[in-house]
Amino acid sequence: MEFDSTFPRRRTRRIMVGSVPVGGGAPITVQSMTVTRTADHEATLRQIYALAAAGADIVRCTCNRPEAAEGLARLVPRSPVPIVADVHNSHRMALAALEAGVHCLRLNPGNIRNPTHIRTIAREARDRGVPIRIGVNAGSLDPDLYDDRLGVTPEAMVESARRELAYFAEVDFDAVKISVKASNVPLMIAAYRLLADETDHPLHLGVTEAGPPPVGTLKATAGIATLLAEGIGDTIRYSLTADPVEEARVGRQLLEILGLRERRNVDLIACPSCGRAEIDVVGVARRALEAFGEREIPLQVAVMGCVVNGPGEARDADLGIAAGHRRGHLFVRGENVAVVPEDEMVETLVEWAEFITEHGADAALERARATRDAARRAAEEDRRRNLDERGDDANDREAVVAEIRRGTRS
Ligand code: SF4
Repeated sequence: MEFDSTFPRRRTRRIMVGSVPVGGGAPITVQSMTVTRTADHEATLRQIYALAAAGADIVRCTCNRPEAAEGLARLVPRSPVPIVADVHNSHRMALAALEAGVHCLRLNPGNIRNPTHIRTIAREARDRGVPIRIGVNAGSLDPDLYDDRLGVTPEAMVESARRELAYFAEVDFDAVKISVKASNVPLMIAAYRLLADETDHPLHLGVTEAGPPPVGTLKATAGIATLLAEGIGDTIRYSLTADPVEEARVGRQLLEILGLRERRNVDLIACPSCGRAEIDVVGVARRALEAFGEREIPLQVAVMGCVVNGPGEARDADLGIAAGHRRGHLFVRGENVAVVPEDEMVETLVEWAEFITEHGADAALERARATRDAARRAAEEDRRRNLDERGDDANDREAVVAEIRRGTRS
C-alpha cells in the first residue's frame, strides 16, 4: 500500500467568489494583488492576465478613489479571474466597488468601524450575492482590542473578526471568508488556529508584509504551510515585496509541493552534489530550471551529479539525468534509456520531458527499446570508473575521521 500523502482538511462552508468556489472541499486557491493604479484599467488588466498565467485564481485590486471604481467597472467584465476590491477606509468605495460589479470585497474591521456603514455594506453585498473577506490585520487592529501589557494577541485578532461577523449577522449576511494576518509568524499561526476552532467560514491565509524574497518567501511559507499541513486554510496569498507575479508563482508552487493542487509545471529535484559529482550540479540544475520555464510539463524531473547513486536515489522521478564521465545518462522511472554528451544534457531532458508529457512514460520506455541495453552498459561502465577513481568513500569521510582523531588525541 502506498504512503497516503494527503492532508485531512478542516470542513468549511463554501462561498463563491465569482465562478471560483472557496471552502467546502474546493481546491485551495491562490490569490495575489495588482500594484498598478486601478484607474489605469488597461495596465491593471495586463497585470491580472500575467498573475492568472502564473497561477493566481483570484486577484485583488485597490479601490481607494472614485477613478479606481470606474477602472474596476471597465476591467471586471474582461478579467480572466474573479476580482476582489480592497476598499481601505471608505464605506463609499465599498459601495462603488459593488456597483462596479466586483466578485468580492475585502473589509478591514480596523479601518471601517462605524456599525451603520458596516451593516450598509453587508446589506448591499447580500442583495448582490457578493461575498466579503473580513481581513483582520495585526497592524491595524481596533485600538480597544490592544492589550496594554501583551500588545496584539491571537484572541484580540479573533475577537475583531467575531465583532464584524456579528454586524453582518444583524443583516442576515454570512457569505464570508476570514483572514487574521500578522507579520509575526507564530502570532499569525496561533490566531488562525484559534479562529479555525470556532468557525466554519473558509479561511484566507497569509503572513502580512512578509518582505522581499528570499526571506519574505520563507516567512510566508512557514506560516502558510504550517497551517495547510494542519488542514487549515482554503485560499492563500503570499504578501511579498516583489513583482506580484512572483507571489502567484510561489503560491501555486507551495500548493503543488504539498499535493494540494495538481502539478502544472516541472518539479525539478536535484542532488546537493558531493565529492562524487561529475558535473557542476548547481549550474546544470539552474540551466534546466530556466529551460523548463513556465512550460506546462507536470512531471518530476531529476538532475543528479553522478551515475553511482543518481538513478537509484531519483528512481521515483518521472525522468532524470545523471552525470557520467563527460556524458549524461538519461533515465525514465529509474530505467536507463539513453546516453548524451555532457553539453546536451539540459536540452535532452527538456525534449524527453515534452515527449513523456504528450505520450506517457510507457511510450518513452518503448521509444528507447533499441537503446536501453547499451545505455545500461554505458551507465555501468561510468559507475565503475567513478568508483575506481574516487573509491567507495568519495567524500573522504574516513580521512576526515582520521584527521579528527589525530587532532583530539594529541
Ligand atoms: S553521490 Fe552522486 S547523486 Fe549523491 S549527492 Fe553525490 S553526486 Fe549527487
